[in-house]
Amino acid sequence: MASPVLFDRLALIGVGLIGGSIARAARALGLVRTIVATSRSEPTRQRIRELGLADEVVDTSAAAVVGADLVMVCVPIGACGAVAKEIGPHLKPGATVSDVGSVKAAVVRDMAPHIPAGVHFIPGHPVAGTEDSGPDSGFAELFINRWCILTPPKDADQAAVERLANFWKAFGASVEIMSPEHHDLVLAVTSHVPHLIAYNIVGTAFDLRLITESEILKYSAGGFRDFTRIAASDPTMWRDVFLANKEAVLEMLGTFNEDLSKLTRAIRRGDGEALFEHFARTRAIRRGIVETGQDSAAPDFGRPHEQLTKK
Ligand code: NAP
Repeated sequence: MASPVLFDRLALIGVGLIGGSIARAARALGLVRTIVATSRSEPTRQRIRELGLADEVVDTSAAAVVGADLVMVCVPIGACGAVAKEIGPHLKPGATVSDVGSVKAAVVRDMAPHIPAGVHFIPGHPVAGTEDSGPDSGFAELFINRWCILTPPKDADQAAVERLANFWKAFGASVEIMSPEHHDLVLAVTSHVPHLIAYNIVGTAFDLRLITESEILKYSAGGFRDFTRIAASDPTMWRDVFLANKEAVLEMLGTFNEDLSKLTRAIRRGDGEALFEHFARTRAIRRGIVETGQDSAAPDFGRPHEQLTKK
């Protein structure tokens, strides 16, 4: 059975990993009738055409949103405000504007003032990604079994929120609603601080003089390999994340440093019991994550993507 068309005309502002995945999934599932896309640079716009990701590719964000029922802003967080300012006067009354930014309070602060009354502004964040960027890196299955967090304002139109939630659910995602501030706190600990740790440990390892680069590469299966994958994430996106979610990240880093001090003390004192207790607790947490289907117990490498079948 074909999926119902949820939006007539989808405008994608920014077509990289996330925008490119939305385009592919929406097309594969028949969730929209027309996709119009734009990107900042001509080479990316040309690549969108070559990949056939949209029915129309236009030069500006303002042109892309004309007549659109759903506008998805898929650019780095730091660019969302300028995009909102450009598209604001051209939005169709009754349209829904959303985004996919990994930080929410700053995006709401930057975008909301430019969205006119009569347009539904429902920010979002699909908690799914890879370390790759650009329109070639997107794939339709990216959102399957992942969460998408929506942060609508308190007085949001419930029918509009539900329609956007159904759009994400059709991609195979589960949808959760929360406030932008709560989102930023949760993501600081589940995503932003872990990325910072990865960026840090990879830098530390390669700055060491005692251990050679070839030894690091040779023995990287011992946990380090996963850090290098995360530390290869897009520098622009992650710079913006830390600038935009400063307060929540600093709060979580404070707690993290306190906990690290406890582990450091346990190692210094030879307190095996404290170390064992901590590791047993975190092992149980990991098993819980696998049980809820947020990850597989299988090794990360070479895992085939699930196939998105047209329903
Ligand atoms: P991406 O693959 O690098 O694509 C970025 C897109 O934004 C491209 O179309 C790029 O245009 C455009 N862009 C870059 N800088 C811009 C600027 N200053 N002004 C206007 N357009 C600009 O990025 P992505 O990974 O899809 O990330 C996009 C958004 O998704 C970010 O807000 C990020 O926080 C969020 N997100 C990412 C992930 C992830 O794992 N990557 C996961 C969840 C959410 P050109 O190519 O033409 O320059």
